[in-house]
Amino acid sequence: MALQFWKPDKGRQRAISMRVPLFFLFLLMGILPMALQGAVMGRSFRRIQIDGRVIEVQNQSLITSDRLTRAEYMSAPGRDALLDKELDTIADIFNGRIVVVDQNFRIVKDTFKLSVGRINVSEPVLRCFKGENSILREDEKQYFAVTAPIYDNSEERNIIGVLLTIASTENILSNVDSVEETSRFYMVVAVMVLTLAGILLTVLLVKPFDNLQVSLDRMADGSLEEDISEHTYRETHRISEAIKKTMTKLQTMDRSREEFVANVSHELKTPITSIRVLADSLMSMEDVPAELYREFMTDISDEIDRESKIVDDLLSLVKMDKSVAELNVEQVDINILVQQILKRLQPIAEKRSVELIYESIREVTADVDETKLSLAISNLVENAIKYNVEGGWVRVTLDADHKYFYVKVADSGIGIPQELQENVFERFYRVDKARSRETGGTGLGLAITKNVVLMHYGAIRLMSKEGEGSTFTMRIPLTYIY
Ligand code: ADP
Repeated sequence: MALQFWKPDKGRQRAISMRVPLFFLFLLMGILPMALQGAVMGRSFRRIQIDGRVIEVQNQSLITSDRLTRAEYMSAPGRDALLDKELDTIADIFNGRIVVVDQNFRIVKDTFKLSVGRINVSEPVLRCFKGENSILREDEKQYFAVTAPIYDNSEERNIIGVLLTIASTENILSNVDSVEETSRFYMVVAVMVLTLAGILLTVLLVKPFDNLQVSLDRMADGSLEEDISEHTYRETHRISEAIKKTMTKLQTMDRSREEFVANVSHELKTPITSIRVLADSLMSMEDVPAELYREFMTDISDEIDRESKIVDDLLSLVKMDKSVAELNVEQVDINILVQQILKRLQPIAEKRSVELIYESIREVTADVDETKLSLAISNLVENAIKYNVEGGWVRVTLDADHKYFYVKVADSGIGIPQELQENVFERFYRVDKARSRETGGTGLGLAITKNVVLMHYGAIRLMSKEGEGSTFTMRIPLTYIY
């Protein structure tokens, strides 16, 4: 088999660092509003600039058309050279072209001097003759045209000409472009600053988790006393507290496992030591009478029985520790089960002159593991007989409500002192070691019973008074919860 020194950690390969989404989130939150604002502002800035220029040109063209009206320009176009010059200058200022159209749609003045004498029946001109001032905007072609009417000097003020001003938006747009370019530059600078701030922030945000990781790594390397408190965030505080709790639990479990192993070794050694002592003394004696031989051999056989009982009990316990899935749950008539147990234990009770009383308040059928529950109840009844007094009694009561059934084992025995009642469910714990040994106890019976009860999601309670007797009550759900 090939030795594998390093196993690739699949989880680690697939997982991304928490810093990555945090960083992008931060960047997105910083850049998105800025980019949106830039786009919206750029567009509206462009529109505002063009609109401003249109209004400016419109006003200027109304002023000019008024001047043309007053100078009776239409009666003899081109006569007033000064006015013509002025039209040229205005056209230059707006980087555009001024065209004057007479009543016959003939162009009488063109600052570009290209179309004088030609006919212009364009829509804005026609509309202006009808009295509507229109604006033609060609944003794509970077120009717009405005019209202004030229009147005669009569009372009716008839429109006798149209002043058409065509202005270019090119220079405005180039201004807007340069503003946008500047803002783009600042945007790049802002993105760089945001990126740096993002990196810094994510590193700082994740730092407490890193600290926790370092502490855990140290702990994994063996320094179990490592302080893993991390109180920067409520989350890290909760995680570190949960880890501490788990560690304490694990340490307690570890200690109790060690204790258990020590107890097991001790308990297993006791009968072996007795056997050795008995065997040694037999061997050291010469001409041992057959009777003494038999007596010693009986003792040795008793010790072997004891050893085998300890091993049996230990095996039952280990089996129960394994997993709840090992339960063989089925519908069991608890009345019959209890009666069978009592029938089996009747001879032992009789031997000790203890009266066994069974009281069934209700018929009970429940989902339980019959073998394990039988073992648990037997342990309680056996104890009630073992730790009883001559002529005493043991009363077993079976009752139920809509959710649970209750098995109560009460006795008139020696009882258990109040301060020791918690301990009796521990493995190998015995109140009176001598008496327990005498009666063949292993100290594992109640531990087994408690395990069985817990496996069925039930509970066990003890009430006892020294010298008066004890009552063990177990409560088990009627239906097993998978
Ligand atoms: P054991 O094999 O010694 O009986 P258990 O785990 O069944 O072990 O019981 C633990 C100890 O609790 C016993 O040694 C005994 O001292 C005490 N005990 C258990 N049941 C009773 C009882 N009904 N009356 C008095 N003491 C009891």
